[in-house]
Amino acid sequence: MDTPFAYDIAFLGLKDPSPVGRSRLVLAMERLTGRSTADCHDFLSKVGLTIFDSLPVDQAQLIINALDEAGAVCEIRPKEDVPRAVSEALGGGMAACPSCGFVQLAGKDECPRCGVIFSKMEKDEIRKMQHNQALEDAQQRAEQIRQEWDDRAKHFLESRPLSADRYQMFNKNLTQEEIPFLFLDTAEGPVLMTSRQLMAIVDGLVVHLPYEIIKDVDFGGGLVGKKGHTRLVLHFHSPIHFKEKNTNSLTWQLTADAATNKEVIMDWAFARSYMCGACGARDLHYRNEKGQTRARCMHCATDHIIDLANLRITPMVSS
Ligand SMILES: [Zn+2]
Ligand SMILES: [Zn+2]
Repeated sequence: MDTPFAYDIAFLGLKDPSPVGRSRLVLAMERLTGRSTADCHDFLSKVGLTIFDSLPVDQAQLIINALDEAGAVCEIRPKEDVPRAVSEALGGGMAACPSCGFVQLAGKDECPRCGVIFSKMEKDEIRKMQHNQALEDAQQRAEQIRQEWDDRAKHFLESRPLSADRYQMFNKNLTQEEIPFLFLDTAEGPVLMTSRQLMAIVDGLVVHLPYEIIKDVDFGGGLVGKKGHTRLVLHFHSPIHFKEKNTNSLTWQLTADAATNKEVIMDWAFARSYMCGACGARDLHYRNEKGQTRARCMHCATDHIIDLANLRITPMVSS
């Protein structure tokens, strides 16, 4: 999937339609758009209106957060958007049936394979079905990838067996599915890599770091660390809550023996990204909200809660 480089933000409604809610949002819109109060009042009645056009990803993220806080329900749309694809698809050329995926000449009223009548389908419904299809495909891919990584861990163990005694301190924190494959000794405490996450015990506390939340890895370099050790720093997409505070990165001093695994650590740490639970896109933008790791989809704007300890990501679908 291509990563979209530009985003539109459409206004979909107000969370709080009371006069107080309206004026709060108008104020925020004035500030963000630089347009007049009258214009901004006007926006509130134009549901679906694109209020920002072709924003770079960082800016889109800032604005959607500001609008969200100000009480707007907004949608982020990549420039190549699904609803537009629908109307184009049903206009000229070839088109895929949104219900069964059958590719046919566009402009037909009915799908020759499954019989769906396009004109009877609301645009939203078409869109939802396309999303569901995209989601299904994405979930299948995600499952495939999980299995590939499990296989990789098993393969690794064939040449470098790992005795279960080495990581028994992590036993109660391991999930059923994951496969522990590499144990690292560090000055800060034990680190265990599994097919799903990197786990560590720091000052007696277990920290769970699914590979998906790792943004960057620094290996070696930096200030001179502990003698005979090599520094490993993991940076996260957003601060994680650890020991009563939020931290952007964690640092370990690896023993010489542990440091020989540089390639393996780099390989695994950069491997994965979470998938949106509503549309399957992998453009999530992370933040820490009151100690909770969250991520918003830059494709469909669905927000997610990430439970690090249980390796779970849950889409927050409002009803
Ligand atoms: Zn069909
Ligand atoms: Zn999404």
